[in-house]
Amino acid sequence: MAKLLEELASPYLQGLVPYIPGKPIGEVERELGITGAIKLASNENPLGPSPLALRALRDALSESHRYPDGDGYYLKQALATRLGLTPDHLVLGNGCNELIELMARCFLLPGDEVVIADPAFVIYGMLAHLQGCATVRVPLKAWTHDLEAMAKAVTSRTKMVFVGNPNNPTGTAVRPTELTAFMDALPNDVIVVMDEAYIEYVPSEMTPDSLQFVRQGRSMIVLRTFSKIYGLAGLRVGYGMAPPSMVELLERIRAPFNVNALAQRAALAALDDEAHLSSSRTMNESGRAYLSGELHRLGLECPPSVANFLLVDLKQDGLAVADALLHMGVIVRPLGGAQLKTHIRVTIGTPPENERFMEALKTVLQKGSDQPKLKS
Ligand SMILES: *Cc1c(COP(=O)(O)O)cnc(C)c1O
Repeated sequence: MAKLLEELASPYLQGLVPYIPGKPIGEVERELGITGAIKLASNENPLGPSPLALRALRDALSESHRYPDGDGYYLKQALATRLGLTPDHLVLGNGCNELIELMARCFLLPGDEVVIADPAFVIYGMLAHLQGCATVRVPLKAWTHDLEAMAKAVTSRTKMVFVGNPNNPTGTAVRPTELTAFMDALPNDVIVVMDEAYIEYVPSEMTPDSLQFVRQGRSMIVLRTFSKIYGLAGLRVGYGMAPPSMVELLERIRAPFNVNALAQRAALAALDDEAHLSSSRTMNESGRAYLSGELHRLGLECPPSVANFLLVDLKQDGLAVADALLHMGVIVRPLGGAQLKTHIRVTIGTPPENERFMEALKTVLQKGSDQPKLKS
């Protein structure tokens, strides 16, 4: 039966493995019989949702019998005003992940080439593969997207280029001038997907004006999300900004009610909560300085992150260390693949969470050096 179904499925599913997300706290506690675990694995906002969003959610609950506004009218209006765009430049998604998927389904055909940095967010490559596309991987340079090399990797078969800025899992960002040069070098029949899931964490001098290319009508979509700094990952809402003609194509294939009513209301309220945004940013900056300083003292280096996570080279098996941390109730993200075998990705938490992570890591690293490793 399994074999028959595999044969009936799209051939592009072959060899594809499901995306493994960071484990929820409850699941880890249940499996290990522990309590008080902390999660630093999925780059969520450790301060939680904005209080304004929580209030909007409570108010919206009694309308749960109604279908959502399929057009996301108010959320698009608010975003458009804020971004200096018209609402027809905006498309909403069930998380920005859905928008990446819609872009792939809308534009990628078997035989097309897709240019991706290496390493980058694994979803890009999975979705390209699912459409039957070849992926061209361009190594990072000094842990950052090498946009010059990526532009050079473009051929007549290239349909799409993914740029994660900041990049996940490195946390690094390209300089605004590099993006301009990249866009100058690229023909307009190559679509650029700028994934800016973490852009609100980036210092202003490092934030490129990517929307200028959207306004100019370049083949670009800029993706952002309410899952990260806005603290609404559980509600699933993201947005894309693109020329109206690209938005119109995406609107043809998205599900009618892809963003639920509660998510729309919470996102709208969260947008206005400047205080929550600024305390999230401030706490992240000091946490990042603390963690990179402490890691440096242990002789461990991180690429220069401008996001809310750090990629740490442990110089030993990252999976084993992540597993040992898990048993101490600290959930971090091991990174597969030959390149990042010795790395973990850790989300910057609250000050007590960061201290707990450092304590646990020190314990694990000490044990690792003077004890034989336990098989779990
Ligand atoms: C978290 C993340 C996203 C989007 O997440 P959603 O929850 O689907 O909005 C997109 N890109 C990158 C690189 C991310 O890390």
